[in-house]
Amino acid sequence: MARYTGPVCRLCRREGQKLFLKGERCFSDMCAITRRGTQPPGSYKQGRRVRRPSDYAVRLREKQKLRRIYGVLEKQFRRYFAKASSMKGVTGTNLLQLLELRLDNVVFRLGFAPSRRAARQLVRHRHFEVDDRVTNIPSYEISPGQVIRVRDKSKDLEIIHNSLRNIGDNVPPWLQLEKAKLQGKVVSCPTREEIPVEAQEQLVVEYYSR
Ligand code: SF4
Repeated sequence: MARYTGPVCRLCRREGQKLFLKGERCFSDMCAITRRGTQPPGSYKQGRRVRRPSDYAVRLREKQKLRRIYGVLEKQFRRYFAKASSMKGVTGTNLLQLLELRLDNVVFRLGFAPSRRAARQLVRHRHFEVDDRVTNIPSYEISPGQVIRVRDKSKDLEIIHNSLRNIGDNVPPWLQLEKAKLQGKVVSCPTREEIPVEAQEQLVVEYYSR
């Protein structure tokens, strides 16, 4: 159940792009990438020559990026990869599907939380039921057909209502949201086209297959 607890915006700067880890702040002028640009964190000497990254470095960065987007630590990410490779179909797509079907991600995609980190915390604090059972495991794998519902005691939480207002109707096609009931359903397994994550998952596969 471990998670990264260090500075979050630093992760975006390391990857040189917005990973949208902080909800609303990511869309504001307060975003570290907007304010400081994409220079990686750390000390820099003026005029230092920037070397072309090796193939290994490119693959490593892509793996780290994907892991950080979903807030998964290395050990668990490796397990996801092992499971994805043992499944039928394209390993990279399987990996993304497994990550998308995590409970914290589904809560985020349904618009109940402004970011995956916030979704994870809401899940840990027992604010959701999956098929009428309270579930507080962020990595819980949701299957198509399952219903995720805000618990009655949590229906007045401001963070949930604010987030739902912001998401509008932007729910991915593999999910069905009933805003009035504060519940959503996974109608199918997402296809690669339905996963709006800018990552080259093939490079992640190559990283682990080296
Ligand atoms: Fe990344 Fe969001 Fe921080 Fe910007 S505000 S650097 S997108 S986590």
